[in-house]
Formats: sequence, C-alpha cells, structure tokens
Amino acid sequence: MSRALPRYQDIQEAAERLRGVVHRTPVLTSQTLNGRLDAEVFFKCENLQKVGAFKFRGAYNAIAKLSPEERAAGVVTFSSGNHGQAIARAAQALGVTATIVMPLDAPKAKRNAAASYGARIIPYDRQTEDREQVARQLIEQEGLTLIPPFDHADVIAGQGTAVMELLEEVGGLDALFVPLGGGGLLAGSLLAAHAVAPECLVYGVEPSAGNDGQQSFNKGEVVRIPPPRSIADGALTQALGEITFPIIKRYAHDILTVSDEKLIHAMQFFAERMKLVVEPTGCLGAAAVLNETVPVRGMRIGVILSGGNVDLASYAACLSHGQQ
Ligand SMILES: *Cc1c(COP(=O)(O)O)cnc(C)c1O
Repeated sequence: MSRALPRYQDIQEAAERLRGVVHRTPVLTSQTLNGRLDAEVFFKCENLQKVGAFKFRGAYNAIAKLSPEERAAGVVTFSSGNHGQAIARAAQALGVTATIVMPLDAPKAKRNAAASYGARIIPYDRQTEDREQVARQLIEQEGLTLIPPFDHADVIAGQGTAVMELLEEVGGLDALFVPLGGGGLLAGSLLAAHAVAPECLVYGVEPSAGNDGQQSFNKGEVVRIPPPRSIADGALTQALGEITFPIIKRYAHDILTVSDEKLIHAMQFFAERMKLVVEPTGCLGAAAVLNETVPVRGMRIGVILSGGNVDLASYAACLSHGQQ
C-alpha cells in the first residue's frame, strides 16, 4: 500500500477524474438557522451523493487509478457500510469486479444493495473468522487489490474534492466542520482548504463515545481506543490512519466531539427545517455548529453533511425521540 502523503494536486487530478461521474452536490442554507446563530452556514450535501455518501468519490478515484492489470484482477474491501457500497458502485461503473467480505449476519439490505451493484459477496463468520485474513487470502489467491476505507492516498484525494467544490461555490470561509471517523474525509478536506482558503479553521467532529481522534490530536500520536458505541455508525473507528493522522495533526485547528443526543437533534432539524435525510454520522459536523460547541457568531461557516443512508426503523425512532 502506498504510504506517500497526498497533496492538493492529487485532489485537483481526482476532480478531473470524477467530473461527470459524481454528482456536484448542492450547497444549501437555512435562513432560520442563520438568524438564530447570527452566522452564514453553508451545508455541502453529500447525503445526496451517489450511493448516499461522499465515499463514492474516494472509491471511484482509487479504482480509476489502478493499472489495467490490477483492474482486470478486481478489487476487494471488508466494509459492509458506505465504503463497501461505494466500492461496489464505483467498480461497476469502471467495469471492474468488486468483492466485499461481509459478516454472515450483515443486514440483508446491505447485502442486497452491494449485490445489486454486481459485487461478489464473500460471507465470513464474525465469531470464528478474521475479516482481514479472509481478504488477505483472496488477495494472495486471486491477485485482488485491497481498497481500504480511509488510509489510502487516492481515497483521501477523492474525498477532498467535496470541499474543493464547496469552496469554489461559496468562496472563503472562516471555519469548516467535517465528520471524523478514520480521517479520510477530514484529511482530504484539510488539504483542499489549506490550498484554497488557508485562513479557514478546519474542525474534525467525532462522537463523544469514540474520541480517539481528539485524544490523538491532543497527544500528538495515534491513540487506539476499544470499539466505541454510538449511533454514528460510520465513525466507530478505533484509530486514525498512518496517512490520515499526519495530515490531521499538521493542518486541523481542533477536534471536537458531540453526544448521540445532539446527533438526534440535528437529524430532527434537517428533517423538519430543511427536508433533508441525514444519517447520524452525517450530522457530526452540523451538531457542533447547531450547539455552538465553538464560537460561530458573525462567521461564514462550511459544514459537510457526509451521508444520508439510514435504516428506516431507526430513523423513525430518532425523529420521534423526545417529541411528545
Ligand atoms: C465513512 C463516513 C464518515 C467518516 O469518514 P472517514 O473518512 O472515515 O473519517 C463520515 N460520514 C459518513 C456518512 C461516512 O460514511
């Protein structure tokens, strides 16, 4: 796997590769919110991206950069969440075979979605098998290329194109709030913001229960935590990556956290006020702004709404939570 750190030029090249392939997602605002916060808040709606999350950008960029031999052999990943779906969809668009290593007990909706994009699903038993070992075996036997969810230069470069589009569209920002899991989205966002709007303060936002990124940022080295529990299921990583961390350490202004309760309030705000379906993880950056976790008054603020994939039953429970 390439350890080279991506640069802004890689994001520019990714944007060329992604032109006409990814949606240029809308940037939406709420007058009510701007009035309440006395700020100008711009939401970059990656919940409306193909496959429902920004992950399609990085997945497509990484697969498009493979050599003809690597493409012919196919790609593999062991994420059944947004990254897995994005790999399946991007591989299909590029005529490459995708293999997704998924737990036997993965929700049927996820299996079906990946299969509908033509992916091959290899089930494994969570109790007795290690998914990385299952993937490694496929890599050795079939020559597949592993595309990891965040710690990969081409994935990071692809993710950075969302903030590049946002800054092209709205111009300079005082601060930018980005959901943080393993740090692919944040690292790409930092590289784009540093190049185009160097004065913009960029915050990563994590679930309070899984604040490994905050601990790592404060300590200056990667801190690994036990598996966290939060409704932000796209940000339950235990540690930042070898490529994402140095970029975050160098360019991030700070790492903030928000509680699950605040994520639920943010989901309700988006449904009620903006008619947007945003998944819990997708609300991380927004929740920090809605709660003024750091001062935002008088500022021009960018927020990445990173995804909109929800299970309808749990989404309904979130929307009705505390509504009596
Ligand atoms: C994966 C994901 C994240 C976190 O992205 P990282 O690159 O792992 O930090 C945030 N939001 C959504 C919706 C995701 O799918």
